[in-house]
Amino acid sequence: MQNRRIKRGKRPELMWGLGLSDQLKKQVEMGVGPGFYVRNFPAGAFPWTKELMQDEKPSAAWIPWSVWEDMPEFRKEEYRSQDSTHRILIQDENDEPIEMDQVLAEGFLTVVRTPLTRPKVQDAVFRAKEVTSMYSDIYRMTEEILLERELLARKTDQLMFLNRILASATESLEPTTILLNAKETLSLVLPIKQLHAAFWTYQAESDVADVEIFLNGTMPPETESAWVEHLMDSAANMGSGPVNGFQIVHAESTRRPEFSQKPKDGRLVTMPLTAGQQTFGCLALLCEPDYRLGKDQVETFRSAVNHLGLALRNSLLYKEVKLRADRDGLTRIYNRHSFEERLIYEIKRRRRYNHDLSLLMVDLDHFKHVNDTYGHKAGDMVLRKVGEILTDTFRTTDLAARYGGEEFVVLLPHTTEKDAWCLAERVREAIQACQFHFDGHDFTVTASIGVASVEAGSLTKDDDLILKADKALYKAKHNGRNMVVISKEKAGRAAMQ
Ligand code: GH3
Ligand code: MG
Ligand code: MG
Repeated sequence: MQNRRIKRGKRPELMWGLGLSDQLKKQVEMGVGPGFYVRNFPAGAFPWTKELMQDEKPSAAWIPWSVWEDMPEFRKEEYRSQDSTHRILIQDENDEPIEMDQVLAEGFLTVVRTPLTRPKVQDAVFRAKEVTSMYSDIYRMTEEILLERELLARKTDQLMFLNRILASATESLEPTTILLNAKETLSLVLPIKQLHAAFWTYQAESDVADVEIFLNGTMPPETESAWVEHLMDSAANMGSGPVNGFQIVHAESTRRPEFSQKPKDGRLVTMPLTAGQQTFGCLALLCEPDYRLGKDQVETFRSAVNHLGLALRNSLLYKEVKLRADRDGLTRIYNRHSFEERLIYEIKRRRRYNHDLSLLMVDLDHFKHVNDTYGHKAGDMVLRKVGEILTDTFRTTDLAARYGGEEFVVLLPHTTEKDAWCLAERVREAIQACQFHFDGHDFTVTASIGVASVEAGSLTKDDDLILKADKALYKAKHNGRNMVVISKEKAGRAAMQ
């Protein structure tokens, strides 16, 4: 730097003349003094601005108006675009004076009339420099304003994005919907091919976690195990503790080509999901391999995932509360309220589509005796076991519920009376076959079951299945217990055992 300054100080500053007459050149040289060196180009040999790049740049160019007027437009344009050279227009004293706005429009910073006296030349150089420094101030300020605007626009984009994440995350209380929405919104910032998640929960007073895994969609078995392994590893790394088991939910039932990609087949981003101080899950995103986020995009992405974490936490709590409200506390199967809701729904559906609908009513025999003999806890154990038997015997479309005390109901859509009877028999046998051990005592229990059905196509308005099943159950009890009875008008022949 020091070196350059010394050199500059010694060497005169370069100025150009474009088509100056000898007289004009001399006048300019006289005017600017020994600190400047004027290099004049005759008409037809004007330098191209690219020469400016190689050579020392001229600080100013002196151009007579007549020369400028004869210059082709593309050459004029070229000189106009050259910012670092002040262009000074020389006007002949005999010509009409040119208006200043025309001078500026032509790309000149100043104009000077002949004869070029020393003060006029110096004044022109001074004015050209003034205007240039003013221009560069305005230019710098404009740059700053544009930058501010760009920053503001980016902030607005970020806010809009976070707003979208929040809106889509709170739109539903269903974790799968929240995750699918999140995939769509997060893709605005990062091209995501797959989005999976794992949540861990603990049963009361237990350190062992149950993990629920949400996979984006159905995928080939090998791919699925790779993802499950990755999510289980991430859960362990993020502090889930020992794991009891896991359960898989597929957010989309479709199998799409991108779902066949494993964790290693792209750029994998795994982030913890937290609420308060607690990490309760993680999010795994598979992205395009070459895509990188800017620093502020990473920040935005982080806060988006934080919002998402809170929404998911709420949805999981909601699910838990709903589960408690829908289920019976002792047996964990559905309670009477859930059953009644579902019964109304199924009866409406049957009226519309006219399919078969059956109902079983199960009552344990002499259950009071079990309580009286082995204690209430033994009774509870029996009830839990019966709950398990019912859950294991029926399809997911069927609904088994605890109706009250030692009474259970099972609702069987699309099931004929005959099939319902077979299922009831299977339940009765399973209960009878069960060996209970409690407090050193071995015992068994039996159950009586009433079956009621409405047949497909039957126009009967009598939908009171509960009453009919209850009557059949009463007959089973009356006829000796441990049996299945179908509700029929001809009561005597209804008992099939
Ligand atoms: P039946 O064969 O006529 O049905 O005789 P039962 O003894 O089973 O019928 P009853 O209605 O006389 O008695 C039902 C018993 O079920 C009485 C009650 O103590 C018991 N019970 C109801 N709910 C529970 C429960 O949650 N836990 C336990 N351990 N027992 C229960
Ligand atoms: Mg009873
Ligand atoms: Mg009973």
